[in-house]
Amino acid sequence: MSEGAISADWVVPVDGEPIRDGRVSWREGRIVEVGTGRAERHVDGGVILPGLVNAHSHLEYAVYGGFGDGEVFGSWMATHISRKRSLAYEDMVAIARRGAADALAAGITTTADYSFSGASATAAAELGLRAIVYLEVFGSDPAAAERQFAESRDRVSESPLVQLGVSPHAPYTCSVEVYRWALSLGIPVGTHLAESAAENDYLVSGEGPMAPSRPFLVEPTGLRAVATLESVLGPELLCAHCVELDAGEIELLARHDVPVAHCPRSNAFLGCGTAPLVELLAAGIRVGLGTDSAASAPSSDPWEELRTAIGTARARERRSDALSAADALRLATLGAAQALGRDHELGSLTVGKRADLAVVSLSGTPYDPIEDPVVATVFGGSPQAVVETIVDGTTRFRQEETAWPEVHSTASAARQRMLP
Ligand SMILES: [Zn+2]
Repeated sequence: MSEGAISADWVVPVDGEPIRDGRVSWREGRIVEVGTGRAERHVDGGVILPGLVNAHSHLEYAVYGGFGDGEVFGSWMATHISRKRSLAYEDMVAIARRGAADALAAGITTTADYSFSGASATAAAELGLRAIVYLEVFGSDPAAAERQFAESRDRVSESPLVQLGVSPHAPYTCSVEVYRWALSLGIPVGTHLAESAAENDYLVSGEGPMAPSRPFLVEPTGLRAVATLESVLGPELLCAHCVELDAGEIELLARHDVPVAHCPRSNAFLGCGTAPLVELLAAGIRVGLGTDSAASAPSSDPWEELRTAIGTARARERRSDALSAADALRLATLGAAQALGRDHELGSLTVGKRADLAVVSLSGTPYDPIEDPVVATVFGGSPQAVVETIVDGTTRFRQEETAWPEVHSTASAARQRMLP
């Protein structure tokens, strides 16, 4: 569709005040008008938002729910590695399609996805989800990492909505030389950083819960995670988690303008802790909210993630004004776009940006009729409340019309193959 418009009770542009009885119009995939008025397609009880931008996902783990739940890190990781081995590449694509479908159905229009096999890129392109797909590499040897990267890259085809990046997995699974090689490619680079105390224990001394996994890991560096990567930190290195940070490490990340993907549910359910979100934001660090995946969180629901971000920030700071609903929504839209370096075209309903929209209906929720559209959306939103998701001006999900039955059945079959 080259042209379109939608209206609802409210438009929440994120970079400006909410608009009552608002309308958003677009042409050739770009927003051309954000204002008041009624369009042919109008959603009663609805709120139009910028499409959610997920700063950290693994579409390929969309059906890994419950694997190794409650186990300590070493056996949790062993469970995942052994189960993933039972999948063929087509299974990984099938699961990633389910992940892309779930994202669109939940109002996500862009995801920053760390992909083990490259399947996420194929799936995102097929389903029409905008994505930066960071192809994962592991190990100490840059030449071996380059071969892993090339193998994944050769499997995926180019798509206008999908940009490829590279992901050295973590400082305990990749050497600094591998990070340096990744950054030399001039494409987006993402990693996992300072996710757990176990990561620091292993890197510093080779001890702790990760020690039994040593055959899969690089040699300890004698330094904590952030110090291990100090020479490669920069604005191009997206870092997921950043839970285990002291004040000096926060300062270091800020000084190097390192963007962070905050994943509070994954961190909580894996028993890693809670990232110092308020301190990160106060230091001026670009932060986006990420769902991670069903391998570590209970689901990939971005609405639950929003509320958990608020709950954990307020609990950690012991004050109710630590993170507002508007702050949280920003983390899931414009903040995430900034973390990905894409805020010039994504993350808010702004004339000239890409026409990526999520439309939710709060009819029947405790927030109906709507008093404050931001509070109502953040606390009352859910995948079930999403009525339409538009990417680049094209409707990719519409409630009661889009069901993807084959996507669900093939992903379920792949999960069945992983069960003992
Ligand atoms: Zn991750």
